[in-house]
Amino acid sequence: MDKVEKALKEVKESIEGFDQDSVRNELEELIKNFNVPIDQAVSTVIRKHRDDSTRTKGKKNISEIEVDESGLEIEGRVIRKTSREIEVEGEKREVISGTIADESGKIGFTSWTAFPFEEGAVVLIENGYTREWRGNPELQIGDYTNLKEGDDEAVPDIKELKSPKEVTLPEVGNVFKAKIEAEIVDVQNGSGLIMRCPECNRVTKGGECQVHGEVDPNPDLRIKAILDDGRGVTQATLGREVTEKLTNIKLEEAKKMARDALDKSVVKEEMKKVVGKTIIAIGQAIGDNFVVREVSEPSWAPEEKAKNLLEELKEV
Ligand SMILES: [Zn+2]
Repeated sequence: MDKVEKALKEVKESIEGFDQDSVRNELEELIKNFNVPIDQAVSTVIRKHRDDSTRTKGKKNISEIEVDESGLEIEGRVIRKTSREIEVEGEKREVISGTIADESGKIGFTSWTAFPFEEGAVVLIENGYTREWRGNPELQIGDYTNLKEGDDEAVPDIKELKSPKEVTLPEVGNVFKAKIEAEIVDVQNGSGLIMRCPECNRVTKGGECQVHGEVDPNPDLRIKAILDDGRGVTQATLGREVTEKLTNIKLEEAKKMARDALDKSVVKEEMKKVVGKTIIAIGQAIGDNFVVREVSEPSWAPEEKAKNLLEELKEV
């Protein structure tokens, strides 16, 4: 048998669904024109065509999905689902949105068509596409998207999918709930004692809500921080409970501090003491803001961690 035909036969044994003529030409070129040994030519061609086939066919891990993709096939579990009514050209339409997750990550979705799956169900989505929403890909399910019941065994259960995953800052958007360890590098304006509109919860300025005008606002505590874990940086928002725990300043104390000083900004100044602290935070990325729901301090001091890391490096 001719060398090229022999090589082609080997390729056939490893991959399928390729264009024989173009593969034969590639092999011929490698073997005859470039004198590449048969084995090497075969593995080169297989590698190339295997990559092609995984790019265009087959399921994709959710964490690998990018903005502006089409023809997507994914299998994931619905971990959140909401419905709302919108008006399109004068007609009311129901739009379903939510979150779908697999072992690798999660993605928000919007369905413009019937979506007969409840929270907890595994769904196989064929021919989905993505667009950008606040810097992240969002899966779109349209009229040409196929929805099928997926394999329940193929995806972790909902409890596991919703549990916090330890990630680095560049990855917080990929998981439903993220657990990170990072240093607070800044406490920004808008932190400290703030006032909120009793109607809509917006932060008021000088007793005025931008929507409801003059109101009798409620006091609240918040930190808007910048976190850095050495891999990435993010803005983060810490609500009252988390702020109280981290700073050890309760809302009542903060109000007293502000009254005594006749100035709310003393609270923010006091809170700046957390700058330089390393925290373990559990939360969710909403757009480019990391909303911290739980906070704790590492059980080891950062210096000790650095020392351990150095030890590890020495051993390598
Ligand atoms: Zn308001």
